[in-house]
Amino acid sequence: MTSLIFDLDNTLYPRSPEVEADFAGRIKNYLKNNLSVDFDHSGFDWEKASLNMGAFLDRIFLGKDKERRKFTHYICDVDVGSLQPDPQLDNHLGRLPHDKYIFTDSTVKHVTDSLNQIGVDQRHFKGIFDHIASGFRFKTDRLCHQRFLEKYGLNPEECVLFEDNPHNLCPAAELGMTTVLITAVPRQNIAADYQFPGLCTALDAMF
Ligand SMILES: [Mg+2]
Repeated sequence: MTSLIFDLDNTLYPRSPEVEADFAGRIKNYLKNNLSVDFDHSGFDWEKASLNMGAFLDRIFLGKDKERRKFTHYICDVDVGSLQPDPQLDNHLGRLPHDKYIFTDSTVKHVTDSLNQIGVDQRHFKGIFDHIASGFRFKTDRLCHQRFLEKYGLNPEECVLFEDNPHNLCPAAELGMTTVLITAVPRQNIAADYQFPGLCTALDAMF
């Protein structure tokens, strides 16, 4: 049976400038106030940041796992009040018989907060794999995907990953997953088997 793997931010819920600004502000505040790192977040772009974020944070938090955990929980405690209810998505997920998982670079708390806000039942999902569970590996890193697959005993050839960040799809494609990019604008030269403008459109077309 095919397993459906969902990213959270900008995939299960659509892009929100308010949520992104809160994330960026929290990262900047934490690094400045606790580690004296001045991180300029003007024009912060998750996709660009994702390419360097892992190595950047690995350097800052070398040998400081406890502090990194605190940082991760702090930056993911964002205000999700701007997200709109999505009963259509809740319906879609409810009628699909597949095993479903959430695979996120954020935290379980951010998942729970977001799902509650958009009215999607958390019981649709068999598992939530977050940044803590990955051992602070980001989804640009193949090891993050391997740890996710190992935790749930999944065969990548039987997984479909839905994700808005094309860089996160590369390791998944290399491992053999089917990859779906959720993007408002079609992209070229990326590791996506399919592209759709929204998650409901993708689920409608594929299942
Ligand atoms: Mg995302």
